[in-house]
Amino acid sequence: MAEKPTILVVGGAGYIGSHACKALADAGYRPVVYDNLVLGHRWAVQWGPLVEGDTCDPAQLDAAFRQFSPQAVLHFAAYSNVGESVDDPAKYYRNNVLGTLNMLEAMRDHQVKQLVFSSTCSTYGEPQTMPIPDDHPQNPINPYGASKAMAERMMADFEVAHGLRFISLRYFNAAGADAAAEIGEDHQPETHLIPLVLEVALGLRPHISIFGTDYDTPDGTCLRDYIHVSDLADAHILGLRALERGASSGAYNLGNGRGFSVREVIDMAAKVTGCDIPVVEAPRRAGDPPILVANAAKAKAELGWKPQFNDLEVMIRTAWHWMRQHHRPA
Ligand code: UDP
Repeated sequence: MAEKPTILVVGGAGYIGSHACKALADAGYRPVVYDNLVLGHRWAVQWGPLVEGDTCDPAQLDAAFRQFSPQAVLHFAAYSNVGESVDDPAKYYRNNVLGTLNMLEAMRDHQVKQLVFSSTCSTYGEPQTMPIPDDHPQNPINPYGASKAMAERMMADFEVAHGLRFISLRYFNAAGADAAAEIGEDHQPETHLIPLVLEVALGLRPHISIFGTDYDTPDGTCLRDYIHVSDLADAHILGLRALERGASSGAYNLGNGRGFSVREVIDMAAKVTGCDIPVVEAPRRAGDPPILVANAAKAKAELGWKPQFNDLEVMIRTAWHWMRQHHRPA
């Protein structure tokens, strides 16, 4: 039997990276996870070996490339909390920019030419058109978005200089969990709406705060485009396949093209869980645009991406299934 192609999954012990590892294994690849386990979890590495290493350590990266000779890299490792990035920009530039530069240099040194990169709608900044197209100008308004935009710029420069090809996937709001509940979301501390609402349903928190009820939106709360994590994972496989076919580099939005308000998410979570979800109306959170919705037509047309779990109820149901299992007392 032919050997399975090895893919180095940098940040593969995290939320989206671990779902990508499962999708890689299902698609016939061998995912090798490279993760410093600062945010990632050992239990999330289930489909291949784990190399404990930091992207800020070029020697560790070099050793991993030498040991595993990957065909391609999927790069997830990053800090991704907008508010934290404003308070501690150095942490974001060091990990997300310098870490990515080290990884690109390791790819260059080991002649690995294919990269699928986790990017974000935060690279756009204040949206000028809605839904947001992939060719929207990139004017990030916080260090997180700036760090990802800089990483995209570095990849483009490495393409010119060293023949690297990359697919940059700009996620909107990742949500849900693996349908078999083998893996799911577990951030410490948690800041995202859906897991926080579900923690209220589980009785782990007294209430959910709604950050802003006076936005210019139908119910006054922010609208976000939620996209199931397994659909994100599938897009990485399609990106990898496109690169294998010789596709040119490109950036692709990943979202469902529909916005749900904070109140709609809370109402759906109440329906799915059958629990009362106490709400507290709180001030706006700094840096939150009122509406973020993707135009993902390019990913569908060029990569053949078809989201399977494009229903908010299914996203919340899979997250709920995972969370109840994960928080079950031992
Ligand atoms: N949000 C909220 N209460 C919370 C957490 C989030 O009202 O406790 C809102 C937040 O202001 C945003 C939406 O929920 O409008 C989604 O936020 P999240 O942090 O999940 O994702 P982001 O859009 O920041 O990537």
